[in-house]
Amino acid sequence: MKKIAVLGSTGSIGMQTLDVISRQPDNYQVIGLAAGNNVSLLLEQARKFRPEWVSAATKELADQISSQVPAGVRVVYGEAGLTEIAGHSGADYVVCALVGSLGLTSTLAAIEAGADIGLANKESLVTAGHLVMQRAKDKGIAILPVDSEHSAIFQCLNGENPRTVKRIMLTASGGSFRDRTREQLNNVTVEDALKHPNWSMGAKITIDSATMANKGLEVIEAHWLFGLPYDQIDVVIHPESIVHSMVEFIDTSVIAQLGNPDMRVPIQYALSYPERTPSPASSLDLLKQATLNFREMDFKRYPCLRLAYDAGRLGGTATTVFNAANEIAVSRFLKGEITFLTIETIIERVLSSHTATMLPSLEAILETDAWARREASSLQ
Ligand code: MG
Repeated sequence: MKKIAVLGSTGSIGMQTLDVISRQPDNYQVIGLAAGNNVSLLLEQARKFRPEWVSAATKELADQISSQVPAGVRVVYGEAGLTEIAGHSGADYVVCALVGSLGLTSTLAAIEAGADIGLANKESLVTAGHLVMQRAKDKGIAILPVDSEHSAIFQCLNGENPRTVKRIMLTASGGSFRDRTREQLNNVTVEDALKHPNWSMGAKITIDSATMANKGLEVIEAHWLFGLPYDQIDVVIHPESIVHSMVEFIDTSVIAQLGNPDMRVPIQYALSYPERTPSPASSLDLLKQATLNFREMDFKRYPCLRLAYDAGRLGGTATTVFNAANEIAVSRFLKGEITFLTIETIIERVLSSHTATMLPSLEAILETDAWARREASSLQ
């Protein structure tokens, strides 16, 4: 029985994680749930899963639910609450499904506590990949990818010698605007951007998919998870989202992982690894699917991906800046403050006014992160 804490339990990945867990009550016990503002759902989850700990975004929200949670459930809040659940709840497995660089401190707390991590928060690795991977190694804990592409690569590498990898190919659906030209992107609305063709996800990641910044974050995440240089990480457009990613080996053999797009599959694999267990996802019927398409990535059409590669190759705090500038730009777009195409302009401008520090400390990373957020907030 794995004792599990879910950080970000009311988000898309968190809810699907709890769905997977609820189908296998003999394998998993929920010990902590951390949410943000959606306390009515958090309360519902607390009643269903009876964790020992829950955390809400603020003291007010925690006070609001503390008299309504089942007896014995401890209610905490804020960043301290997240760290408490990640590091002190007694969980031996922490699913980190928070959105944004907020996930970093709690990911590090979970590592320090010796818990294995199911990592859905790609920003932890993008912002502080060298620290997270080094501390995980020192502590001897596993970081298991939840992201569908990284789960695919992880599965393709199972039992293989990492030195025999020639390159990995991350697939990208192209997002909600994949059939539009750059000219047609000038006046797109928030509503248009939130319609992803294949995956149902939170707002931030859906916008990131439309700009291809999400694939940029995933390229950097793959660099850290699999220890590969950027020249060995390719991205290919695959509109159907059936091939979740591929690995080419030095003998030219290509191994791919396929399946219908359903996040419960990679979530479950991250929880059950190295075992496989039955899934509620529907079986892939390639006869019905009939065709799978692949297109070369167009870096001019998707400058956010080019910027992510540039930041990754530069290294150090450059990827921290890429991530922070993107987070602010996306939230400003969602609030209607800037246009869709201004997202890339803001990332580019903040990156170009930053001088990267190599092998930064956590303090330096947090400082850079705050600086990039201020810059991205002030640009027009
Ligand atoms: Mg993904």
